[in-house]
Amino acid sequence: MRIAVIGAGIAGLVAAAGLQRDGHDVVIFERRSHSDAVGAGLTLFGNAFEALDLVGLGDTVRGVSSAAIASMRAGQRSPSGGWLTTAPASATGSMRSVHRQDLHRALTDSLVPGTLHTGSPATVDPSGGPHIVLDHDTARVDPVDLVIVADGIHSPNRRVLGLDTGLHYAGYTAWRGVTSEPVDIHDEAGETWGRGQIFGIVPLPDNRIYWFGTLNCPAGTIYPEEHAEVRRRFAGWHPPIQDCIAATPPGDLMRHDIYDLLTPLTSLTERRTVLIGDAAHAMTPNLGQGAGQGIEDAATLTVLLRGVSPASLGAALTTYTEFRHARTTSIMQRSRWAARVAQASHPLLAGLRDTALRLTPGGLLGAANRRMHRWPRPG
Ligand SMILES: Cc1cc2nc3c(=O)[nH]c(=O)nc-3n(C[C@H](O)[C@H](O)[C@H](O)COP(=O)(O)OP(=O)(O)OC[C@H]3O[C@@H](n4cnc5c(N)ncnc54)[C@H](O)[C@@H]3O)c2cc1C
Repeated sequence: MRIAVIGAGIAGLVAAAGLQRDGHDVVIFERRSHSDAVGAGLTLFGNAFEALDLVGLGDTVRGVSSAAIASMRAGQRSPSGGWLTTAPASATGSMRSVHRQDLHRALTDSLVPGTLHTGSPATVDPSGGPHIVLDHDTARVDPVDLVIVADGIHSPNRRVLGLDTGLHYAGYTAWRGVTSEPVDIHDEAGETWGRGQIFGIVPLPDNRIYWFGTLNCPAGTIYPEEHAEVRRRFAGWHPPIQDCIAATPPGDLMRHDIYDLLTPLTSLTERRTVLIGDAAHAMTPNLGQGAGQGIEDAATLTVLLRGVSPASLGAALTTYTEFRHARTTSIMQRSRWAARVAQASHPLLAGLRDTALRLTPGGLLGAANRRMHRWPRPG
């Protein structure tokens, strides 16, 4: 089949590479003028790798990622450094971390040369039909059998298709950085939970550290000097938090307000158009599943399109929605709930949360995530 993908983020790239390996004629249109990704680190769990393996990309992503965190002590700490809970191996055993730029590069390199068209913002046919339009040149792209919309959380095409339900501000902002100088994390990683603030430490390949720091604040808050602000906000927290911030060049620091979809979409498809990734189910990052779910979408779609002709496409897309809607809705809702718990700022609530974490056996926490870390593959 001839397939157009709109958006070369993680979901769009995995879909394009997987479908191309199955012999489909695929083209990707990306708004950015270059193929490099912006971003810091990312963690992926076993579910993402099961999906990647099935479309032939598992080893490509293993090659640029690190499994170091699985052999470290990880879990939740308090700002003084005391452990609230240590994650059991069942929770972190399948976890790998990767620098987003390395992941994007590896996925882009696995495409047939000429597949990716950068500097090409694209718009779907509002009726979900076979045409897409490139915004910069009024020429229509030749009709395709399927359009995959993978244009991210702010998806302009979700709006064009009339599927948009709006976005919901999660109440907090997140700084992200990657160290450029060595920092010893003493084989300890994971998150430190304060009141309305979290700091996360994740080892990356090549001894770099990916870290994030969150803070409850009104959407759109502006800080005159971001690097100084994040240092100030986490002053007095346990080592090596300040070392991680100090080892990150101020120019490489990024900050984004965190949003998810206001409500789940009623449908993930519209005639010959299908939504994947954040365009379909943007969620808060608290369960580390946003990209993982986009990868699952891409692999599910690839598998469901095996042996399908344009004439029987409708049935395959209906099955796609059946497979993906319930799972992604449930993970989106759990993620929002996890955000509220982790970002709790009221001293009483934060105290109760910390006590509950201390008292809950690690095995129970691991069991809660076990189903999420397995990909319910079709067929
Ligand atoms: C702080 C933070 C931490 C996170 N940590 C994790 C984590 O550890 N693990 C995890 O799994 N997930 C994590 N996530 C979520 C993850 O980053 C996203 O779920 C994932 O990147 C979404 O990928 P995507 O391909 O759907 O969208 P995107 O990466 O947003 O890609 C969309 C692409 O579409 C392009 N585009 C937009 N409009 C058009 C158009 N009209 N035409 C052409 N192109 C267009 C954009 O330029 C972009 O390149 C985190 C998110 C945040 C904010």
